[in-house]
Amino acid sequence: MNILLLGSGGREHALALKMSQSPLCEQLFIAPGNAGTALCGTNVNMGVSEFEKIKAFCLSNAVDLVVPGSEEALVNGIFDFFRADAALQHIPVMGPSKEGAQLEGSKSYGKLFMQRHQIPTAGYREFNADNYEEGVAYLQQHTLPIVLKADGLAAGKGVVILDNHADAVAEFEQMIKAAKFGDASKTVVVEEFLTGIELSVFALTDGHTYKILPEAKDYKRIGEGDLGLNTGGMGAVSPVPFADAAFMAKIEDRIIRPTINGLSQEGIPYNGFVFFGLINVAGEPFVIEYNCRMGDPETEVVMPRLQNDLLELFSAVAAGTLGEQTIYTDPRAAATVMLVSKGYPEAYEKNKVITGIPAPTRDQIVFHAGTRHEGETVLTNGGRVLAITSLAADLSLSLAHSVQTAEQIAFDGKVYRRDIGYEFI
Ligand code: ATP
Repeated sequence: MNILLLGSGGREHALALKMSQSPLCEQLFIAPGNAGTALCGTNVNMGVSEFEKIKAFCLSNAVDLVVPGSEEALVNGIFDFFRADAALQHIPVMGPSKEGAQLEGSKSYGKLFMQRHQIPTAGYREFNADNYEEGVAYLQQHTLPIVLKADGLAAGKGVVILDNHADAVAEFEQMIKAAKFGDASKTVVVEEFLTGIELSVFALTDGHTYKILPEAKDYKRIGEGDLGLNTGGMGAVSPVPFADAAFMAKIEDRIIRPTINGLSQEGIPYNGFVFFGLINVAGEPFVIEYNCRMGDPETEVVMPRLQNDLLELFSAVAAGTLGEQTIYTDPRAAATVMLVSKGYPEAYEKNKVITGIPAPTRDQIVFHAGTRHEGETVLTNGGRVLAITSLAADLSLSLAHSVQTAEQIAFDGKVYRRDIGYEFI
């Protein structure tokens, strides 16, 4: 089978490696890819939303399967683009239709979907320019803290939590009146604040049945102890110790099954990953957000623990036979430590030479995120540079191994956290 994977982060390296290990994999292309994906297949210089170029590439390279790594191409409608074109209809796209991708692309759409299917989530109201004054009055009597969410995609920056009314009203004004996040904040969701500990749960679905993958927890703040600015993610662990069988059963019964049944009942095509961003509030799971793809860096702990052939699973999704599959999970614990560029998530420098990346073993893989090749040299090419994943008998050992390798790898301005998974160690 010939596969085209879209994206260039650590998530895509993890997906590329997993697919390249399958006996079903003949040729793997990654667009645009990074220095790590180049070790698993062929990088192609093409943007993830350049649909016409993607079409031409798929036809001239006999691509049999397209796997979008991030939400961008999905929200832009790559699934529907392939379905609507007679020349492309035979090529499955692992992801939702444009409508299904709205679960992530619009907070308002996601909230209404959860309401229709009685899926537990924070109470909310939504406002726009038409009911702006009502929104201000609503905020002024709201309990603190107040969660404001830009409805659309805002590169992970569209959620703001305020601990006083004046700041909440000022932010609300910025979002709606000053278009702080452009069209994405024309509508704002005001949500009840939930107190608890978060985790990420993933399902693969063909739109009717589903399989649950290993769960994970990510660490978003730049600093140890969860301090400082929000990032795309500084590390992750899997399994999540409090996600025991009883808690996972609640998640499946109240959240996963109703979501997949809801998609099926509403006739929304969905062939791919569903990411459930959840919060455990005193033992009860609530949905914070849906994503229509895997997370990054969660993929870097989930894929190494998944023992199935990923292409066999994708083929089953495409054939509508996913229900016949069984998921096998490595019982070992995985911890990912992300190496980032000094200054990230604000301005940072690129093009620093990276040395000391060890070859992968059964117990450790270094995934590339923001990297690129120049001849034999690997250079930094982004804020998040490398993701070191180690597998060991317990979390403290896997973290220790990842931190040890984080120390060995060298590049100018390397920054990382040593406390990933600290609550569980
Ligand atoms: P991401 O960066 O994951 O793409 P996003 O911009 O889509 O995030 P959310 O995941 O909805 O936004 O929210 C970001 C973070 O804000 C959550 O991970 C959580 O920590 C916090 N948060 C969101 N909603 C709530 C809530 N109702 N109560 C408490 N915290 C919340």
